[in-house]
Amino acid sequence: MSQQRPYIVGNWKMHGTRAMLGEVRAIDRAGQRHPKVEVALAPPFTLIHAARKEAEQIGVGAQDCHPVDGGAHTGDISPAMLADAGAGFVIVGHSERRTDHAETDELVRAKAEAARKAGLGVIVCVGESEAERDAGRAEDVVRGQVDASVPTSAGAVERLSVAYEPVWAIGTGRVPSLADIEAMHRAIRERLLAIYGEDGAEVRILYGGSVKPDNAVEILGVPDVGGALVGGASLTAESFYGIIRAASGENVD
Ligand code: PEP
Repeated sequence: MSQQRPYIVGNWKMHGTRAMLGEVRAIDRAGQRHPKVEVALAPPFTLIHAARKEAEQIGVGAQDCHPVDGGAHTGDISPAMLADAGAGFVIVGHSERRTDHAETDELVRAKAEAARKAGLGVIVCVGESEAERDAGRAEDVVRGQVDASVPTSAGAVERLSVAYEPVWAIGTGRVPSLADIEAMHRAIRERLLAIYGEDGAEVRILYGGSVKPDNAVEILGVPDVGGALVGGASLTAESFYGIIRAASGENVD
């Protein structure tokens, strides 16, 4: 299994103006205090350049990209533009994009491939709805999303992460049982090994969905949880720091 550092990524969604750059600086300081943790932040597009300039240590990335390099696509942002603005990675296939913008697995894969071509790290999000879990289909659904969404071009595992985010746990304060998280991460790992061979062991699988400072230690302790994708609790340095500290495994303030 991978010996990589835990990867703790904040997703600011559609939150944040320049007034929040102080939080970026404070999160960067938290990252500097815990070098055993890889910390990153995905602010809105409008803050990527400024956040990259403010932050010395943490990764800065984007929450989405278009699948082509450029052209007549009003309002869209290409991976090359993100890289030019200072982004080092991009999240693709977040459930809010799959729902709000009817994004399919096929489109998510195309975005992931385009991002890779532009030199960006990629976090591919997958996760079942509440109805799918209630129907006993959660693992089947997520396996299918992994199979159809992850990039498969040569070298695809480099700087690739998969984020397991049950849709019903995002922003709700509800979290699956640790046993359910473990089972799903195992199922995802099996698919990654099937797709990439032994290189599939190097892909970090992040958990996302209502991760908070008070549940981070137990969630991050689940086998094969390689980090967390964090929404609400990444919006202030204070709460995000609690998660970074939990990931560090160190009892320091
Ligand atoms: C997310 O947006 O990816 C997320 C996990 O949100 P939250 O932590 O607020 O549930």
